[in-house]
Amino acid sequence: MHLADLLERRPVPAAAIFLTLTRRCPLHCQHCSTRSAQTSQQQPAASLRRFAGSFSTADHPEFLLLTGGEPLLRPGLVRTLAETARAAGTRSYVLTGAYFASGGRTPGTIRGALESVDHVAISIDVFHEAEVPRPQVFRVLHELLDAGIDASVQACGAGPGDPYLVTLAEQIRQEFADRVPMLATVVSPVGRARSWLVSSAAGETAAEDRSGGRIVPALPCDMASWPVVGFDGTITACCNTDVLDSRPAPAHLRLGHIATTTWPEVRHACVSSPVLRGLRTEGPLRLAARMAGPGQVGRGDYCQTCRALADRPEILRRVGADAARPVAVLIEQQAIALQLRAGPVAFARRHGAPALADLVLLGRPTLPGEQDPEAAAC
Ligand code: SF4
Ligand code: SF4
Repeated sequence: MHLADLLERRPVPAAAIFLTLTRRCPLHCQHCSTRSAQTSQQQPAASLRRFAGSFSTADHPEFLLLTGGEPLLRPGLVRTLAETARAAGTRSYVLTGAYFASGGRTPGTIRGALESVDHVAISIDVFHEAEVPRPQVFRVLHELLDAGIDASVQACGAGPGDPYLVTLAEQIRQEFADRVPMLATVVSPVGRARSWLVSSAAGETAAEDRSGGRIVPALPCDMASWPVVGFDGTITACCNTDVLDSRPAPAHLRLGHIATTTWPEVRHACVSSPVLRGLRTEGPLRLAARMAGPGQVGRGDYCQTCRALADRPEILRRVGADAARPVAVLIEQQAIALQLRAGPVAFARRHGAPALADLVLLGRPTLPGEQDPEAAAC
């Protein structure tokens, strides 16, 4: 499974689900969005296995994304979940910091877990490299390619034009002869980075301020499509760090709990929630400005405005009623179709380093009659 196969489905509600297997991690990256440590929270394996067991051939996500913390601290669980998902027709992906690579060889249990999934993504950035040397990560990537496993690099830079990203991309292309795609992202002021990184979004203000009193343009939230099982088992509509960390989760973003909710219930809640439809179609800034009026939903950036809706049930009710109209369903379908036509490169451009977005296509076989995603984006 190629990285682009995954990214091109990103706009589709419930096409995938993220499962955080543990918050624990033996590394100490200074930008860690989850503030992971060796002793962090970890939920019971039985709940995760039960949830994956609720996938069926008739009703399953297209993709299961295993993350953390460091999911490969639980290699047996990774394998079980990947095998359970595959039996229902779901392809799996694991994102790792490759903590095991420093020892110079990949332990058998980890290798078994890596070989059980359909795609392995490895994080590389200056913070990871302080703990896991690049040559060791490249060794693991070569092992994966030799075993016929699709792999990619998730690289993180200080900014979209960070020369580190450009140099890393050149080296990856050369080392792997363009067979390993790369998703280039930019560090955000969340988790451990919150204390030292100045937000480029710090100047963002409330919807009414941005608009100067005029209608705010729609800016759909494409993160509200794939549910996330958080570290305590709460299932939310998105992976926003503050949503994952705040408990109780904002009610309009809560979809259930791993201990009791099944996949069909999560899928139904994700797809049918009118508030989520509104977020996916218009985004929180326009919704808040349109339903509440200027200055009514607090002052904050994009996601702060969304979370603040939880304190305004009357506004949420209006948002829900508006987005429950049949025409809103049609508009959402059009918004999703537009994003699908734009393709995986457009998604990478929006959420990462735009100049390096094309690298998500490296190594992707071109199918006969397939449309060039770049051309489709124009
Ligand atoms: S490898 Fe990932 S989870 Fe672990 S400390 Fe680094 S960023 Fe955090
Ligand atoms: S706008 Fe809301 S749903 Fe979208 S990522 Fe932010 S907090 Fe999550």
